[in-house]
Amino acid sequence: MTKSSISPASPFSSTAPIGEEHARLTIDLQALADNWRLMARKSGKARTAAVLKADAYGTGLEPAARTFYGAGARDFFVASPAEGVALRPLVPDARIFVLSGMWPGSERLFFDYDLVPVLASQGQLAVFMAAISERGDHPCALQVDTGMNRLGLSVPDAIALAHDPARPASFSPVLILSHLACGDEPMHPMNRMQLDRFRAAIKAFEGVEASLANSAGVFLGEEFHFDLTRPGISLYGGAAVNDEPNPMKPVVTAEARILQVRDARIGESVSYGAAAVLTRDSRIAVAAIGYADGYLRSLSGAGVPLRQTGISGASGYLHGRAVPLIGRVTMDLTHFDVTDLPEGAVRAGDFIELFGPNMPIEKVAKAGGTIDYVLLTSLGPRYRRDYVDANR
Ligand SMILES: *Cc1c(COP(=O)(O)O)cnc(C)c1O
Repeated sequence: MTKSSISPASPFSSTAPIGEEHARLTIDLQALADNWRLMARKSGKARTAAVLKADAYGTGLEPAARTFYGAGARDFFVASPAEGVALRPLVPDARIFVLSGMWPGSERLFFDYDLVPVLASQGQLAVFMAAISERGDHPCALQVDTGMNRLGLSVPDAIALAHDPARPASFSPVLILSHLACGDEPMHPMNRMQLDRFRAAIKAFEGVEASLANSAGVFLGEEFHFDLTRPGISLYGGAAVNDEPNPMKPVVTAEARILQVRDARIGESVSYGAAAVLTRDSRIAVAAIGYADGYLRSLSGAGVPLRQTGISGASGYLHGRAVPLIGRVTMDLTHFDVTDLPEGAVRAGDFIELFGPNMPIEKVAKAGGTIDYVLLTSLGPRYRRDYVDANR
């Protein structure tokens, strides 16, 4: 059906975009490039990497990698060897660090695809030593745990390794890194403590590059930058630091089609559990989006445990204003209260913005008791993905 074939009697708005998709993502590669450049400026003298794990935080590995590379990035971080293998042809001459390190059985991938394992335990060190004695020299990085208790050698173990006379001469990491637990809270004492521990560890590895800062760490200031910064969420438009204005450009706009607009009466209920009871005669838009699309059930306007703590549900953005989510988010459908929009303004076929330039993603995440990282990495396969090109 073409746009012009819609008759005036159609229930669908003649101005609504016509297409088969029910939900779409618009990914602004220009904003992605600008965000990398901003993080590079904020990183001062340090080089700036790009973290591309989890399909580039849901934005798509290939377009994101090409965009960062085009902007000047030459250091990339992924979570797994498989992600590194997928990334290698996109950035042929760049350095790719694999944060989960080397695992028995995966050695070949690191050599064949020139991936740098970030070794994080004595066991992984042993796997790596065996691999280089068999296959020849290969770069590696070393992760030191400075307080998060996630991955990494303890600081004393790292120092002991540096001074170990039995350490093979061929073992020389190209990078020592650690990860901040509380970078999003600038005043948290953990930041200073981790900084001090990290300094103690890298002192033992003279001449080796060091990296501590994720996105939030970049904002903590110069002493956290060292030689290489590792921003992820900021590049994708997320808010790295809590309770501060977010300087990044929004990258992802998520929208869903409104399938129906319904009139409902005071006292009636909406969605599963009859959890939302109308306190006025209402107009309700039913959008084709649900928790199967990563539009989480915790974003619901009523009927989920979070709502008993007093946080209101998420809102969408439609025809110039925020409209609240009403009732429970379901697998494929979500209700929005559009009563406050002028009558006739909302039509079946319209798209509602779930998050994007008019509805900040961190605000939506907060309403769902979660963080923007979760919303981005949960985007399901049902969206149409449109990329706005950086070179336009
Ligand atoms: C994910 C990750 C990053 C990026 O963190 P953001 O908070 O998204 O900037 C950096 N370093 C490590 C080790 C990570 O796991």
